[in-house]
Amino acid sequence: MVVGICGGGQLARMLALAAHPMGIRTLVLDPAGDACAALVTKHLHGAFDDEALLDELADASDVVTYEFENVPLDSVRYLARKVPVYPPVSALEATQDRFGEKNLFRELGIETPGFTAVSSQPELESAIQEIGLPSVLKTRRMGYDGKGQLILKEAADVEGAWERLGGVPAILEAFVSFDREVSSIAVRSRDGEINVYPLSENLHGDGILKTATSKPHDPIKPLAQDYATRLLEHFDYVGVLALEFFQVGDRLLANEFAPRVHNSGHWTIEGAQTSQFENHLRAVAGLALGSTEPVEHTVMINCIGEIPPLDAVMKVRCAHLHDYAKAFKPGRKVGHITVRSSDPDYLKQVTADICNLQG
Ligand code: AMP
Repeated sequence: MVVGICGGGQLARMLALAAHPMGIRTLVLDPAGDACAALVTKHLHGAFDDEALLDELADASDVVTYEFENVPLDSVRYLARKVPVYPPVSALEATQDRFGEKNLFRELGIETPGFTAVSSQPELESAIQEIGLPSVLKTRRMGYDGKGQLILKEAADVEGAWERLGGVPAILEAFVSFDREVSSIAVRSRDGEINVYPLSENLHGDGILKTATSKPHDPIKPLAQDYATRLLEHFDYVGVLALEFFQVGDRLLANEFAPRVHNSGHWTIEGAQTSQFENHLRAVAGLALGSTEPVEHTVMINCIGEIPPLDAVMKVRCAHLHDYAKAFKPGRKVGHITVRSSDPDYLKQVTADICNLQG
């Protein structure tokens, strides 16, 4: 079994690493010469719309998947005419436009923050009348990790905001004073079996995920699971899907979903019976799913910009380092550290120590 992957970043790298023990081979297509997955698997080096490379990927693969949602749709459709592609192209398409994505949530009865489409400054001004302040102006396409968004707190922030965002189609969303951010990582097999991991509780800073903590037995999990299941069934989905929420009291407001393995699910490598990477591969390869039950309490800490000194990390006996072998650069996710323990208080202390190592 060969699984082809569009994209050769850290998610593809961790998919490839999870594939090896199962005897599944992988290859990645990525335009970057230094794609970090290339150190652990075969790399087709070139553009996502290079038809000769897409042919090579399709010919060499039994099934193709993707590791990020901004792969050109036309390329994925081209591949899908030659080889099974999972998750389905319809799910990928739905995530490429924030407005369409939020409308889909509404259609499926998944609660969202208030939102409306905006494609000019006058439209923004009337949208503010509807949504109010504070609110968040986001590009409809290509935004990630807090990029492509502006928080509008007061009337003065609204002036010229649409142009400041780049003068591109956007949505205005109500700013949510959430209690916390959580995500649900779920997986569906080719024959419709669904498994859902314990909820992840996520802390962000500057729009980037800093830590994700597994929350076994969280009281809001059934609602998150119900919402994730609606999406999975809507798309006749195959693979891992991540659904991100703002929690306000006993409500969950959906922010976005990702049709792929997700940063907030990295803790599953050490913290669940079967990691999200293995389960994604099992699903797309047409195999039975593995258990999503947790193993102890787990926290994942992202290494942003750089990785703390190896010696210091290794002194923490319950810490597991995942170095993506990427060049250090401010704001870039270059690795993560997972800590796991049966004692949640000890875990909190260790997490604080590791966060301090990062400065
Ligand atoms: P996004 O790019 O939509 O995933 O947003 C990145 C992060 O910005 C989220 O995880 C939140 O921490 C914050 N954020 C985005 N949208 C909102 C919102 N409507 N209200 C409050 N915070 C938000």
